[in-house]
Amino acid sequence: MRATRGIFRKVMDTVFLRRCKICNSIIVEEGKRHICMGCWRNITLIGKHLCSCCGKPLQISYDLSEELNGYICGRCREKPPVFDSVCSICRYDGVLKELIHIYKYNMIKSLGCDLVSLMIDYIKSGNGIHPHPNSIMYVPLHRRKLKERGFDQSYILAREIGDYLNIPLITDNLSKSRYTGPQVKLSGNERLRNVKGAFIVQRPDEIRKMNILLIDDVFTTGTTVNECARVLKRAGTDRVDVLTLARAV
Ligand SMILES: [Zn+2]
Ligand SMILES: [Zn+2]
Repeated sequence: MRATRGIFRKVMDTVFLRRCKICNSIIVEEGKRHICMGCWRNITLIGKHLCSCCGKPLQISYDLSEELNGYICGRCREKPPVFDSVCSICRYDGVLKELIHIYKYNMIKSLGCDLVSLMIDYIKSGNGIHPHPNSIMYVPLHRRKLKERGFDQSYILAREIGDYLNIPLITDNLSKSRYTGPQVKLSGNERLRNVKGAFIVQRPDEIRKMNILLIDDVFTTGTTVNECARVLKRAGTDRVDVLTLARAV
């Protein structure tokens, strides 16, 4: 009898209670979020003082906001990126890092809604992104990776943002033609070699003269989005502005 009651409670828990994907506590707030408020508040937004070219957060100890308007970091001055701007919303650490890992590697597709809500809140606040994108694209997975994971995490983010901004999402045009290993442990030059020539544009006519908003989940050194921007621009795109959920700092 006790065992039956235990199973019954488990079933009821699963059906009616939402548990936080990070700390496993019961979520008391209304809505569909999969994270409790306590964990949600631990997601750190990127600060305001950024390189105006690559979006790198600048290390400053006091308010220099006036002087820093239009500031370009040393790396960008030396070698400007191909993309026109990049905007990242949160720091890739702590709760958010864990969430993105669960989303991608435990393949919990529904977490995409929680993650995209961070991006949409950011856009709503009037921050950042280039004001007139014509279309949305995303950094695609290779077919083999897509098959392993079952969904493309950046496609889901891009689709929702496209819906919110009411601009079309272009799919199956930018594609990854070569399977590449993870970038995580590679040095700058190795990263570059790893992604060089890995993306192709299938239908240049569709993106010619367009302002593209390119979506990715995590910006680490920017090598991948820069390579995508290079390929897109070579195919005739006017602008490529990048928006990523997280940025490694
Ligand atoms: Zn929690
Ligand atoms: Zn920079």
